[in-house]
Amino acid sequence: MSFGPRITRRDFLNGALLGVGGAVLGCRAPAPRQIAPDDGARWSVGPDWYGYGGVGDYRFSHGNTPDTVETAHRLRDGELPSGFDRVESIEDHDLVIVGAGMAGLGAALEYAKKRRPGQTCMMLDNHPIFGGEAKENEFDVGGVRLIGPQGANGFFVPDVVTDPERASGDPRYYAELDVPREFQFRDWGRPPEEKPLRFSPDNYEYLVRGLEQHTSVGHFFSTGPQGEGTWAIDIWERRLANTPLSAAARATLLQWYASGATRQFATDEQAVRGLDTMSYQEFLEQELHLGPEPARYADLFLASACGLGSDAVSAYVTYQLPMPGLTERLPPGLRRVSFPGGNSGFVRYFLKRLIPDAIAGTDSFEDIVTGRVNFDALDRAGQPLRVRLRSTVVSVEHEGGRASSGTVKVVYARDGRLHGIRAKAVIMATGGWMNLYVVRDMPPLYREAYRQFVHAPFLVANVALTNWRFLHRLGITAAIWDRGEGDFGYTCNIRNPMQVGSYQPPLDPDQPTILSFYTPFHHPGLPLREQTTRGRMELLNTSYPEFERRIYAQMMKLFAASGFKPERDVAGLILNRWGHAYSVPFPGFFGGASGGGGAPRDIIRIPHGRIAFAHSELNGWQHWGPAADEGRRAFNQLVEAI
Ligand SMILES: Cc1cc2nc3c(=O)[nH]c(=O)nc-3n(C[C@H](O)[C@H](O)[C@H](O)COP(=O)(O)OP(=O)(O)OC[C@H]3O[C@@H](n4cnc5c(N)ncnc54)[C@H](O)[C@@H]3O)c2cc1C
Repeated sequence: MSFGPRITRRDFLNGALLGVGGAVLGCRAPAPRQIAPDDGARWSVGPDWYGYGGVGDYRFSHGNTPDTVETAHRLRDGELPSGFDRVESIEDHDLVIVGAGMAGLGAALEYAKKRRPGQTCMMLDNHPIFGGEAKENEFDVGGVRLIGPQGANGFFVPDVVTDPERASGDPRYYAELDVPREFQFRDWGRPPEEKPLRFSPDNYEYLVRGLEQHTSVGHFFSTGPQGEGTWAIDIWERRLANTPLSAAARATLLQWYASGATRQFATDEQAVRGLDTMSYQEFLEQELHLGPEPARYADLFLASACGLGSDAVSAYVTYQLPMPGLTERLPPGLRRVSFPGGNSGFVRYFLKRLIPDAIAGTDSFEDIVTGRVNFDALDRAGQPLRVRLRSTVVSVEHEGGRASSGTVKVVYARDGRLHGIRAKAVIMATGGWMNLYVVRDMPPLYREAYRQFVHAPFLVANVALTNWRFLHRLGITAAIWDRGEGDFGYTCNIRNPMQVGSYQPPLDPDQPTILSFYTPFHHPGLPLREQTTRGRMELLNTSYPEFERRIYAQMMKLFAASGFKPERDVAGLILNRWGHAYSVPFPGFFGGASGGGGAPRDIIRIPHGRIAFAHSELNGWQHWGPAADEGRRAFNQLVEAI
């Protein structure tokens, strides 16, 4: 079952090459240093940390870059200055938006609609490309172009609205940006004697009760210490009869799976009051009197969507997300959708509207979603909105240190140099873990509120395959395993890839595809912060070759018996590490104890003088439409100030 370093050599070499790529980007490559939680010591990544980045416009920006991780730690350690005394240049702008993710873009869209003639806005982001957690990876496997998400990956097509201005969230932006509602996916084009398979369109659908039936899902149950195991396919359809689970475990899981909305609330406030006082696990065990198995199964989806599992996530969130016990089963026809690069598609729609020539081509769906980025168009003097990348904001404070002051000083680091911007207002479309250190004059009340947030890490590992015959032999397109000692991850799947114009990725077991591992770091039962700190240490302290070894070892364990051979079947691996992927919506996050209102996020949503805060973390569970709403809200709070 074991395999040697030989089979990982190709990607190891790619990884080593990318270490050089990192140096080109200005990343130093000192000796690796292990990170310890808040040990106050200087931390930097080694040359074998970042690894291969694929091809195309996103190749230098997959997950957190070495540069952003290092700068963030220097910021935490108080090594970066705040004033204008050490900057090499100072510009003036009416508005600065920090962060070019969905929230920052939501703010920029509102600015573009409401700006007065002559007003200018600078958007700064610390990555080599815009999008935040909604970016994409691109591979070229023997001439076949393959695009996959780095993080945010799927959505339900929202309801049609006739007046987007009066709407919010997904329906508003979907209508406003004129995103199509019909999409093309590949038909299963294999000869009739080949077993037809079912596919998730995204990397989540197969984990959701009522949607999993659209995917051929295999569960691998370990049966021996040497990696032996047994597969059970489509377990829910077969009412778990094909699993080695005990009769008691099957009974409690089936009861959970069948349960609909067991609580009714007339208003959202009532739901917060009733549910935001307990975790989903507590709800299942104490209110529905179920055994522990459903909570562990629910972790697969919850930890993928919220960072930690049922023991950590508020029951109120599972009333909003489709979870048994608090919501009815989803209608059978409902499907999720995923653009080639996941929610990177939405990011590109926003950007195309804001700076039309930033993405090559027309405003057709094909050009927006698959066109090349024109980096020169992002930051041109004289345009109302400029986007400056590879720029880490290290300090934001009101001039003179008073919130009543008329301007805000912004200091950012770019290519190892410090620059300044004087702005009338600043939107921090960035997470609290960063804002705590960047906003130098943040009042104690805000600091206290931000300190209550809990941020969880996440790893998206995209493995490019030359073929996936080994999955086809098993009759599956998604795999779930009960994680044992030494195992990597919990789930992986291949999508039915969306077809967009000339981008026509194959759907054929003998052709290339991307196998995605969406991997949370949850440790059920431990205190929340202990779970997230442990996870972050594992995520950040593991080298690319070590993750690569673990991932291929896991694939060997799962798929060697059905013919998987890494040296033949793997074309490349990209790691997307997200150190603070999610703000965990823990019980009380929504103000449950007080019946809503007074929650930490409500404090953060109040502008601090000329600085307003917008990030998807304020929504509780992070999602693209509400993220853009936070940006829009923040702009409207500051509109009089600019
Ligand atoms: C693995 C994963 C899967 C997800 N799946 C989905 C999904 O299927 N559907 C969905 O709707 N959502 C999904 N999400 C949630 C996603 O996070 C949100 O939908 C949204 O994209 C977040 O946007 P944001 O602008 O709030 O934050 P971010 O995307 O975090 O953007 C903030 C930006 O600010 C930058 N920044 C931070 N500090 C600084 C600084 N000091 N200076 C300059 N720049 C800075 C960051 O690097 C980043 O680029 C997923 C998230 C993850 C991690």
